Amino acid sequence: MPEIAVFATDIHGEIQDYEKVLEAAGGKNVRAVIIGGDITPFLSVIGDIGTYQREFMEFYLIPRLKEFRKKTKKDVFIMMGNDDLKINSDVMKRGEKQGSFKLINQKVHKIGRKYIAGYSFINEAPFLLKDWEKDEKDIRKDLNKLAKLADPGKTIYCVHAPPLGTNLDVLFTGEHVGSSAIREFILEKQPYLTLHGHIHESSRMTGNWRDVLGETVCVNPGKGNILVFDINDLKVMEVVY
Ligand SMILES: [Zn+2]
Repeated sequence: MPEIAVFATDIHGEIQDYEKVLEAAGGKNVRAVIIGGDITPFLSVIGDIGTYQREFMEFYLIPRLKEFRKKTKKDVFIMMGNDDLKINSDVMKRGEKQGSFKLINQKVHKIGRKYIAGYSFINEAPFLLKDWEKDEKDIRKDLNKLAKLADPGKTIYCVHAPPLGTNLDVLFTGEHVGSSAIREFILEKQPYLTLHGHIHESSRMTGNWRDVLGETVCVNPGKGNILVFDINDLKVMEVVY
């Protein structure tokens, strides 16, 4: 029996996209949903962005995922990204306590017979919000710590920023803007699979949502697109739009 996981990232509070993901995740063989950061709406034109994002989580995201879990018994893994204000982490922690999902940033959980680990921080970028930025040296340190919690060869890493110099980190300008620490980490530890986001347009720019570093398959499906893959057989993998 295949054990399918559904991954989406950079949904930025688009309810239509969340509903699309949950519909794709409703299938019989789907075991888990993974949501990879930048979960709440972009900067608000009305009022305070922190409050706006908090209310989105409290009134839509958390109850919706709780309902999905209750109905389907599937696992939901989620983390914040660089556009989700860190001040609202407490709301997400409360959501986890209510059983709506499991938070994965800098943590490891079981996903079928494999593991899943997450990492929200990005390498330095000229964006407005600095909550989730770190320098490459610190990113590398954090990832090494994470690698001690479970065998990388059996772990799916959901890392918001993509590795530098791949199909997954190309900006609309054509420039590669991924993280060198993430690239080195993947090359050295050779994880089972890595899932990325952050650079929404990279797959459009390169014509490729997938790359390989050493033996490790790395994916960035692009904003709001859905990656469907077999947890135990990575040859089975596609992006649905
Ligand atoms: Zn984003």
